[in-house]
Amino acid sequence: MNKKKIATVWLGGCSGCHMSLLDIDERILDVAALADIVKSPVVDGKEMPEVDVAIVEGAITSDEHYEEILHIRKQAKILIALGDCAIHNNVTGLRNFFKLQEVFDTSYKESPSNDADGVMPDDPLLLKLNEKVIPLSEVVDVDFFINGCPPDADYIFYVIFEYLNERIPQPGGHKKIQYG
Ligand code: SF4
Repeated sequence: MNKKKIATVWLGGCSGCHMSLLDIDERILDVAALADIVKSPVVDGKEMPEVDVAIVEGAITSDEHYEEILHIRKQAKILIALGDCAIHNNVTGLRNFFKLQEVFDTSYKESPSNDADGVMPDDPLLLKLNEKVIPLSEVVDVDFFINGCPPDADYIFYVIFEYLNERIPQPGGHKKIQYG
């Protein structure tokens, strides 16, 4: 069997989902035997080539994220939403309860940790946030949802491993498998 290609992408999330991904520990060798990780924050790949499986952490918070998820969907045979922020906004979406300007003011102007030289909302270095956060499935079709905040590493490994072996994973299917 030819080696498959995997991408992991970090959109509007805290990176905790990627930390859980790393918690698959030595099972990364089982993944590496079947696939190359061609783009990921953990391998620093910048391009998004065509891949068999794309695993996306975080919600859509900006036009940049919006364009990125459309591109990922185009490039990926299977798209997995990784974690509760990608699935239903979760922590990333808490700011939806407030006006964006209020969030900026609280975070950048009124924060005691910010001084006169601190970053301001109009700083070109900052991502231009949209008024509301939305989950992946509001923009693209998602093939599988790995829930959790953060998701269980066993679940992440199970889903990836099933797809790499050309099987369809089942929701919660990792609970039927004994790991370690
Ligand atoms: S689901 Fe939890 S761990 Fe994952 S990005 Fe969101 S807040 Fe972080």
